[in-house]
Amino acid sequence: MTLYPEILKVLRILLEKSDNTHWANWITQDIEEWNRSKSTKHHLSAYGGMGSINDLWVGGNDIKGSWKNEIFDHSKSLAYALAQRKGMGGSELVGISPNRHRAVIQGWRCLECGYGEVSKVEIESYIANKFVPILLRQKIESGDVCKIVNISELTIEEQVVEHRRKVISAVEKSEIRLIERADKWMQPCPNCDSDNTAVYRWNFNENSDLGEITPSSDNLKLKTEKKTLHNNKYWTLGRWFKFWK
Ligand SMILES: [Zn+2]
Repeated sequence: MTLYPEILKVLRILLEKSDNTHWANWITQDIEEWNRSKSTKHHLSAYGGMGSINDLWVGGNDIKGSWKNEIFDHSKSLAYALAQRKGMGGSELVGISPNRHRAVIQGWRCLECGYGEVSKVEIESYIANKFVPILLRQKIESGDVCKIVNISELTIEEQVVEHRRKVISAVEKSEIRLIERADKWMQPCPNCDSDNTAVYRWNFNENSDLGEITPSSDNLKLKTEKKTLHNNKYWTLGRWFKFWK
């Protein structure tokens, strides 16, 4: 089986399902050119520049949409890599482009009181980002790459379910509120009414047995963090003072 026309079919299915007729027709032409002359030139011309296939999204802001977008993104990168290699290559080309794994869970935080929230859609998007390359590679190796579009089957794969359970339990343990979806800025804070809110990122530490979620290092500081630091210094000073007295 040659992978290149197969992955083009995956792209076409996703484009048809999201009513992107222009791009679905484009991919049909790519498949025809491949069958006729083994040329990948037309497909390569879909990338780059404004309004190109690079900028396209096929899924909405919901759980299924997160998977659709990840599958589309990884299939596009794979199709591009194969087209550049004149159709040569296989599953080893999945996920070769950089910045594929974002590794952070994004939500909101109130910088005044520390209240935080993360949406289930965001968690699913994190899960899809992690598992789509793994599952895509598996489907290629078992010879049924088109099955990668059966999203309802992917979301209940054992490894996916287990990882989702770990992430959600880590979020709940850390007292971050889990919400259905985040359609708008969290402002004001639902807990203290302050407008001092910001986008906030957490890392999920999957190697720890318990599974932990910790703030990533590039976040804005919480007011309470500064206060805690200050109080700690004060407490240390006070202790020394007592000691010397
Ligand atoms: Zn607050």
